[in-house]
Amino acid sequence: MPAQANPSPKTSAHQNSDVQTIHFHGHKKIYPRWITGYFNNWRIFFVLVTQLFFYAVPWLEINGRQALLFDLVQSKFYIFGLVFLPQDFVYLMALLLVSAFGLFVWTAIGGRLWCGYSCPQTVYTQIFLWIEKWTEGDRAARIKLDQAPLSWHKVGVKTLKHSIWLALSLWTGFTFVAYFTPLAELRSNLAQWSIGPWDTFWILFYALATYGNAGWLREQVCLHMCPYSRFQSTMFDKDTLIISYDRQRGEPRGQRAIGSDYQAKGLGECISCTMCVQVCPVGIDIRDGLQYECIGCTACIDACDQVMDKVGYPPGLIRYTTANALEHPEQPSSWWKKLLRPQVSLFGVVLILVIGASSYSLYLHQPLKAEIARERNTLVRELPSGELENVYRIRLQSTAEQARSFTLSVNGLPGLAIEIDQNEPLSLASTASREFVVRVKTTPKNAKPGANQIRFEITAQDDPSVKISEVATFFAP
Ligand code: SF4
Ligand code: SF4
Repeated sequence: MPAQANPSPKTSAHQNSDVQTIHFHGHKKIYPRWITGYFNNWRIFFVLVTQLFFYAVPWLEINGRQALLFDLVQSKFYIFGLVFLPQDFVYLMALLLVSAFGLFVWTAIGGRLWCGYSCPQTVYTQIFLWIEKWTEGDRAARIKLDQAPLSWHKVGVKTLKHSIWLALSLWTGFTFVAYFTPLAELRSNLAQWSIGPWDTFWILFYALATYGNAGWLREQVCLHMCPYSRFQSTMFDKDTLIISYDRQRGEPRGQRAIGSDYQAKGLGECISCTMCVQVCPVGIDIRDGLQYECIGCTACIDACDQVMDKVGYPPGLIRYTTANALEHPEQPSSWWKKLLRPQVSLFGVVLILVIGASSYSLYLHQPLKAEIARERNTLVRELPSGELENVYRIRLQSTAEQARSFTLSVNGLPGLAIEIDQNEPLSLASTASREFVVRVKTTPKNAKPGANQIRFEITAQDDPSVKISEVATFFAP
């Protein structure tokens, strides 16, 4: 990102006729002004969608089990009807690859759309700001309240705000832990005040992280703790979507009477009202150029469009655009027409390939696994009947949500016979695993001396499509 000089890290002030604007940088508190508008509606929409998903999903059940549960104790991951085991590590790798390439492609195309609309830090800060506005009022009221001496009113308002923040944070921590400990168990333990030490620790940890990051640290997390804001400049190019102030249109900026001929005075369209600065949650001035501190929240677009509307100028003095479009206003080109540039196409193809391969693999994914090991003590036994016998231990792991019975067969050599020790039924409870001892026999003339390849086939009795086949070795003297 071609970062330009950030405004002074010291306190700075802007003045106009009716509002004194004070914005702070670094560790100083920022009081973003409340803003409504087209893009703000989209942000509200994304806050609602992401939070509805986060808070509601642990309450969903599929086949009588929590729909999304990462059961670390049992090493089982229940994902909307599918059950994954540590052996399915390859899917985690695929997910990481998709995330990495997806982030690269998405950032090259859309810049900081993720930061502005969906990042948990942005989303929770937004929610906490709503609560702050509801309890303390808008920007001017909050500045006044903070500067006011201690009073019962101030203590009451602050206590109310922090109580709601803390309640929401605790609920968020509880919900987070419910992705790892079954919600029903957590609720029952909570009702009896007997939540275990680890669950208690993580609920409080996540709650404090939410309260601290969204309530207190806010933009400091984006500025100093988030690595994404630092390395994303390497993914930007001149056709990446950015939010920018149109200098050619706006400068020279200056105040003027509404309806006056500003061009005759040599002015541009920026009326220096500083509304774009007042609404900025990270306390920067977008007119100073593209800055890494900008989280792409769009508040300045909504603010400026409202100002433009009031003074009768066209909207879009601050807008979504690209560096190329700003540099060449004489060649208006749509951002979406540049989507297939080489850098994006290359990583896009890799992304599509990884998604395609992992989706196909998931489609073929069988809810059954088998590990076959030969009995170590005896390589081969000659039975009184003259037959040769090899013994195997088969560990079956079902990832189905229902109990299942299976049939076992073996092929690869003529005349193979199979027998399960003690004639145990080959059945498993829901998502259970069990070991079976299996004896395989054939006559000596059917096997060559040494190793012979055979194949076990295991099929679910209630669903023949659930079928796996594993290779093993049959030894003959
Ligand atoms: S809101 Fe628009 S008109 Fe007002 S200072 Fe910012 S860029 Fe200029
Ligand atoms: S400059 Fe605009 S888009 Fe960037 S953080 Fe500030 S208000 Fe949001």
